[in-house]
Amino acid sequence: MSPDFTPDAPLTLALSKGRIFEDTLPLLEAAGVHVTESPDSSRKLILPTSDPGLRLLIVRASDVPTYVQYGAADFGIAGRDVLIEHTAQHPGGLYQPIDLNIARCKLSVACRADFDYAGAVYQGARLRVATKYVQAAREHFAAKGVFVDIIKLYGSMELAPLVGLSDVIVDLVSTGGTLRANNLVAVEDIMPISSRLIVNRAALKTRGARLQPLLDAFERASTADA
Ligand code: ATP
Ligand code: MG
Repeated sequence: MSPDFTPDAPLTLALSKGRIFEDTLPLLEAAGVHVTESPDSSRKLILPTSDPGLRLLIVRASDVPTYVQYGAADFGIAGRDVLIEHTAQHPGGLYQPIDLNIARCKLSVACRADFDYAGAVYQGARLRVATKYVQAAREHFAAKGVFVDIIKLYGSMELAPLVGLSDVIVDLVSTGGTLRANNLVAVEDIMPISSRLIVNRAALKTRGARLQPLLDAFERASTADA
């Protein structure tokens, strides 16, 4: 099935459930759009909104850029972490007009408290890095001139240094509670993370008149409390 760009089809916004969905509700409210069902209780993957011209697609966080790039969704909301990994594979595929300042955290390097990270870097040791964020990690250590073996994981990164799979991890940190619970410490910040609006390039051209008021409302709401 090819993407539906007919002018009167509803606009489709792709986003993940959890913190991005929760943080997006106030932005939608600011645009006059109410969401009456929650993805958790309804288990629906396509959610209607109070605006018959706008529906939501609930997808995995790392799948949001894919739905938008191929036009199955007109626009979407995804973390900078996810966008860095996606863009490495598909350069220039997405228009990223607005930093929404939601779902904020940091991408950091962490290790066991008894691992001498500064010493290892200083001595030019080869570091074993476990992460889901292969691209961001590779760029970070390349810029520092540190040689690394990247070990790709899909979750529970905190485990890797505890069982000797890696020396360090590169992971998202917000309160640090998960690190502490696993006797890990953050030793370096790589970059601040927040979620951005992404827009399908064809949709911007063919449906711009309907998209633009929503983009404007999101932008006003996200800078208002930044
Ligand atoms: P999944 O949980 O389905 O494996 P995920 O971990 O990427 O995927 P979420 O946990 O919903 O999905 O995270 C979605 C986005 O929210 C991340 O891509 C990131 O930008 C942001 N995020 C993740 N963890 C935090 C956090 N602890 N605090 C704030 N924002 C976060
Ligand atoms: Mg998660």
